[in-house]
Amino acid sequence: MKKFGVALLRTLLIGFYALTGSVWAQSLTLQDLSLQGELTQGGMVIGHVPSGAEIYYAGRRLPLTDQGEFVLGFGRDEPLQQSLKLILASGEQKSLPFTIEKREYNLQRIEGVPARTVNPDPKHLKRIQAEAGEVKQARDTDSGLLGFLQRFEWPVKGPITGVYGSQRIYNGEPRRPHFGVDIAVPEGTEILAPADGVVTLAHKDMFFSGGTMVIDHGHGINTSYLHMSKLLVKSGQKVKQGQAIGLVGATGRATGPHLCWRLNWYQERLDPQLLMPDS
Ligand SMILES: [Zn+2]
Repeated sequence: MKKFGVALLRTLLIGFYALTGSVWAQSLTLQDLSLQGELTQGGMVIGHVPSGAEIYYAGRRLPLTDQGEFVLGFGRDEPLQQSLKLILASGEQKSLPFTIEKREYNLQRIEGVPARTVNPDPKHLKRIQAEAGEVKQARDTDSGLLGFLQRFEWPVKGPITGVYGSQRIYNGEPRRPHFGVDIAVPEGTEILAPADGVVTLAHKDMFFSGGTMVIDHGHGINTSYLHMSKLLVKSGQKVKQGQAIGLVGATGRATGPHLCWRLNWYQERLDPQLLMPDS
């Protein structure tokens, strides 16, 4: 699979330089803050702060694990100039600018989806909005789960028929970009949890996405599964990496059986494919 010219795994080291003559320079306990992952639009990165420090991104204090790890993600059209703010245990504040890579997105034409899912009847709008609210709420989950630190595994393996970020034209009409990776596998194929987590949404039949599930992996990282024919776990249930959570289907706005797999950091839509080493 094309990786958009982005290296698979990269480490960015943001240097901290002790300011000569500053009283605080003496109290710095750390020389570097590391960020591991894809420093690109759609990428997820995991960082590490020294003991007692706090980290902020876009004005938001990020939760830390007991080991000082944190996670953040960059949206499809995220500005390339980024910055983190670190507050050390001493109280010293550091602004840490860095740059992420720009992605190129393609155009994808999809013919033959049910017409009612391209131009929904106004009478369905209430249902569509209510369902969007349920998904949003599930993705707002802020837990201390640690599944996001695992190496993610493919929920199903098969030909990739849709990638993250592509502009979509359904039955000739432009619609929102695609935010997941589509994997075409036969109806009824078991979908496996890519990492440990807790099910925060399990809905049998949503208007656009049909059988839909959201799994929380902690610290705002969650994955979604769309168009499922059957759900095998319930909302609130713990799942382990590799556990079957549902079956592939073609429910909702789909032309055939496939899994649409998505990755979010809270509401920010990321590219799950960037987490996969063999894609
Ligand atoms: Zn999809």
